[in-house]
Amino acid sequence: MEAVDCVVIGAGVVGLAVARALALAGREVLVLEAADAIGTGTSSRNSEVIHAGIYYPKGSLKARLCVQGKQLLYAYCAERGIAHRRCGKLLVATQEAQLGQLQGIIDKAAANGVDDLVWLSREQAQALEPALACVGALHSPSTGMVDSHGLMLALLGDLEHAGGLLALNSPLDSARITPEGIVLNAVGGTTLLARTVVNAAGLHAQDLARRFSGLDPALVPPAYYAKGNYFTLAGRSPFSRLIYPVPQAAGLGVHLTLDLGGQAKFGPDVQWVDSPDDLVVDPARGDAFYAEVRQYWPDLPDGALQPGYAGIRPKIQAPDQAALDFMVQGPADHGVPGLVNLFGIESPGLTSSLALGAHVAALLAD
Ligand SMILES: Cc1cc2nc3c(=O)[nH]c(=O)nc-3n(C[C@H](O)[C@H](O)[C@H](O)COP(=O)(O)OP(=O)(O)OC[C@H]3O[C@@H](n4cnc5c(N)ncnc54)[C@H](O)[C@@H]3O)c2cc1C
Repeated sequence: MEAVDCVVIGAGVVGLAVARALALAGREVLVLEAADAIGTGTSSRNSEVIHAGIYYPKGSLKARLCVQGKQLLYAYCAERGIAHRRCGKLLVATQEAQLGQLQGIIDKAAANGVDDLVWLSREQAQALEPALACVGALHSPSTGMVDSHGLMLALLGDLEHAGGLLALNSPLDSARITPEGIVLNAVGGTTLLARTVVNAAGLHAQDLARRFSGLDPALVPPAYYAKGNYFTLAGRSPFSRLIYPVPQAAGLGVHLTLDLGGQAKFGPDVQWVDSPDDLVVDPARGDAFYAEVRQYWPDLPDGALQPGYAGIRPKIQAPDQAALDFMVQGPADHGVPGLVNLFGIESPGLTSSLALGAHVAALLAD
């Protein structure tokens, strides 16, 4: 059986960032990807927002890795010429009752080390974005946009430059934990012995972990899927910054984001689904978008929204439960030397990717 030092399962933005960090630390790395290209999963079905790190509970991995990841990402984009824009965002209260929530967000952000939020009155917000309807807003100047594909290509380039390898069309079927290391069984019958394995299979991470014999299945969290649908705006965007309503239970509310070409899209909404492959956007969901968007943009014309695309949030908690943190399970958690499982890497996973890579590499260096 062939032996390899580290195997990372999944070539999404997180798997690639982990693989790059391990390769830069001098480890021999192989990435196994089921699809025929990198980044075809959730990493290409998101808002491409560089989040500031303002919503997450103090001390959580989401808070820490988002704030670190944002700084690393801006520096990496500048160094590697990856398209990005520090366009800023407005977080808007459309009713007086929501102003208290904005204050709560300022406090949460400050606890996470994000102290650049600026209160705006209705007039100040409208001076920045004349089409906006609100009673007050917060300006987050460090929020931005990134070309996620450009980012993944740069991560892959660094991995390969450091001697790492990517194998496409290589789905892992199962694994067996042995005293010599982790025996990986690829679909098709190839087997490999690895000293270190990182399960970065995104929406399939739990399913895969349950096929690791020798790993206690009770430690694998349940998987839930919260689909987020996007609708694109026909015509020019009336806004030059990202516009977010105050956050809601399972997501950040139907917000407006811009791509790097300035095209506007709205979403994602929250639709709990049973399958990680349920990616078709139902045009009928657009009706609810009109109502939500008109709370902050009353002039949204009838018929202006077109079904766009959908992504699925890899949740580890049920719809009626409070949001959980990223779950990075290392040897100290499950007792298997050399194994790290990444579960529930939803937003802000793209922003946090470089910090997550460093975090996992450090965990495996100990
Ligand atoms: C609607 C939505 C909006 C979002 N918006 C943002 C945002 O604006 N900003 C932000 O920071 N984050 C955002 N996120 C989160 C971000 O997109 C994810 O955290 C990130 O893309 C997760 O990357 P990943 O590599 O873990 O997973 P994925 O990109 O899903 O990659 C997993 C890979 O594993 C492969 N794989 C699966 N099973 C196997 C197997 N058995 N063998 C081999 N390969 C396998 C898959 O093919 C896939 O390529 C959003 C997420 C969603 C759903």
